[in-house]
Amino acid sequence: RNWAEGALSPELLRAVQKVGYTKPSPIQMAAIPIGLQQRDVIGIAETGSGKTAAFVLPMLTYISKLPPMTEEIEAEGPYAVVMAPTRELAQQIEDETVKFAHFLDIRVVSIVGGQSIEDQGFKLRQGCEVVIATPGRLIDCLERRYAVLNQCNYVVLDEADRMIDMGFEPQVMGVLDAMPSSNLKPENEDAELDTQKIYRTTYMFSATMPTAVERLARKYLRNPVVVTI
Ligand code: AMP
Repeated sequence: RNWAEGALSPELLRAVQKVGYTKPSPIQMAAIPIGLQQRDVIGIAETGSGKTAAFVLPMLTYISKLPPMTEEIEAEGPYAVVMAPTRELAQQIEDETVKFAHFLDIRVVSIVGGQSIEDQGFKLRQGCEVVIATPGRLIDCLERRYAVLNQCNYVVLDEADRMIDMGFEPQVMGVLDAMPSSNLKPENEDAELDTQKIYRTTYMFSATMPTAVERLARKYLRNPVVVTI
């Protein structure tokens, strides 16, 4: 099996080649096509499985189909948000995202604790397509109006179980509630989707599925495909 079967855009396929990933890992094979169809995904996977690229590649494909950002568009916030429990994990996700994003002129800003929030506000004002954040700091930025999420329709919750363990459930929900809820897919699985409309795509990765994670999934994911490897 190879990347070409996966329906990534040609420019992203070239980027993957340049980065040197010769073939997709099992979680990538399973999760990427689903994300490309804008369906929600629950991925049960551990670090080391290649789970980061499994959500980064469909996310970048999604962004590359959207209008290039003008100043007016920038003012409405990023096109995609990734949340992770720790600064270290956010850093790893940023590294993995930038590897591919720089071939596509997609800008990535990281918003984590322990760094100057004013500097982060400044970077956000300059505009970016992707924000990678820890939930607490992103909530602070939203409350200060440093960040807005008026056009964020692609969201990843990485290591959701750890975010919950660390007590971030309210912040995670606060961030999700700051995105346009009118773009959530209908709860009724049989409801017809508007082919002209962009719906919110949510990826949730978790090593385990405790009740609090299931609750989060039930509230914000629609008819998700569960990918276990
Ligand atoms: P992750 O599970 O996302 O933390 O990824 C684990 C490591 O595998 C990272 O260093 C990635 O850069 C690397 N990696 C991810 N996908 C691939 C791939 N398809 N081919 C080679 N290396 C990969």
